[in-house]
Amino acid sequence: MLRIISLAICLFTVGPAFAQAQSSDYTEDYQQEALEIFRDIIAMRTAAGHGKVPEMAEYLAQRFRDAGFDEEDIHVIPMVVSDGEEVASLVVRFRGNGLANKKPILLLAHMDVVDAIRSDWVREPYTLIEEDGYFFGRGTSDNKTGIAMLTATFARLQREGFTPTRDLIIAFTGDEETTMENIQSLVTEYRHLVDAEFVLNSDAGGGYRDHNHDPVSYLMQAAEKTYVDFELTIRNPGGHSSRPRADNAIYELATVLKNIEQYRFPSRINEVTEGYFREMAPLIGGELGEAMGEYARNPGDPEAQAVLENHPSEVGNTRTTCIATMLRAGHAENALPQSATATINCRMFPGVPAADVEAQLFRAAANPALEIKMTYPANEGPMSPLREDVTATVAEAAKTHYGDVPLIPEMSKGATDSQYTRMAGMPSYGVSGLFMRPEDMFAHGLNERVPVDSFFTALDYWYQVLTELGSE
Ligand SMILES: [Zn+2]
Repeated sequence: MLRIISLAICLFTVGPAFAQAQSSDYTEDYQQEALEIFRDIIAMRTAAGHGKVPEMAEYLAQRFRDAGFDEEDIHVIPMVVSDGEEVASLVVRFRGNGLANKKPILLLAHMDVVDAIRSDWVREPYTLIEEDGYFFGRGTSDNKTGIAMLTATFARLQREGFTPTRDLIIAFTGDEETTMENIQSLVTEYRHLVDAEFVLNSDAGGGYRDHNHDPVSYLMQAAEKTYVDFELTIRNPGGHSSRPRADNAIYELATVLKNIEQYRFPSRINEVTEGYFREMAPLIGGELGEAMGEYARNPGDPEAQAVLENHPSEVGNTRTTCIATMLRAGHAENALPQSATATINCRMFPGVPAADVEAQLFRAAANPALEIKMTYPANEGPMSPLREDVTATVAEAAKTHYGDVPLIPEMSKGATDSQYTRMAGMPSYGVSGLFMRPEDMFAHGLNERVPVDSFFTALDYWYQVLTELGSE
């Protein structure tokens, strides 16, 4: 999953015109290997319902064997997930010499994609097509670049005779876009294969470019909000609509919803959002930038809260949000409603228990007859504390390859496999090597693409990150 950038960040710098890079400009063996892997895996329709994930896991396992990894360090783990799909995960261990005396680093990517329908796309979605300086194809950004980067970099390091000072472990999952059961089984049943000090996920974070393709900032994901749904129901004895009663399920639910609309969850801040607002403030500037800076200093400031409240991309960084998304009520045009139900979707701030959110909703609703039911259970993951080793290495690698860009921590509103590694006690960081313009982001959508130059630059970025962290 890739995040959607706030509108403000892309509005400010002006730079030289974008020189279109072609893949033929990149002739090193490791670059060609990454491209070959990329082309092969884009051709595999690893969307739910097509059963191609095990084939992709097997293909990649062979790549690791060819690069010289021992059979005992390569694990293809088949799994039938709850929607009946046969998927697989792949775990590969790059053995270190133990000199660092530290637990391994776990590297994540997912092999599955959201399906693409040929007739809706301009080009073949399951063929890697290079055009106008971009690679087009389903999964190019989400998340097959990550798979290609990590596979090609492990192969390159193995061939170069690199020995890390601690084990580096790759885990590729096969159902991140649907059931997320692979990662859950890896951190429980197969914990011995993936246990790590921390996790680097290629499926989140990454750099931003402005409209002219100039790099602006690097966002490192260190927290995710928690998704949860509630159903709110008011019941009533009902009756004939020609004989209206004083109480009415629809009117009462409407009042409940208006009360909830007015309710604000308490504002919050953590290390990640504090860093986000502080670093973003000067980049954004203007009234919004000022509010961000003020909020970082004093999250209780009502004026800063009010400004951020009016920016849909930022309000979620300040607190838990809950919003009505669906409604159903009544059973006939000429009958008093026997029930009225609304769905409320919440994105909880890390560390806020779902039971607290439920209790606050109930209080805000101010109707003791209201029934509340949690219909999508929450996975309450913590935020990951910012670690100097990770932030310094990622910031340095981003600077080396993309120029003087600040590293900004971020909390994403969506969810990746990292929510489960965080819940399993492994701090996790989204550190994709791609730098993209907001208008080039089509993850899950039509005509998904990545810039050719960023694909190859990300390859060097990952090499630097892994050799750096693998040499400490
Ligand atoms: Zn993804």
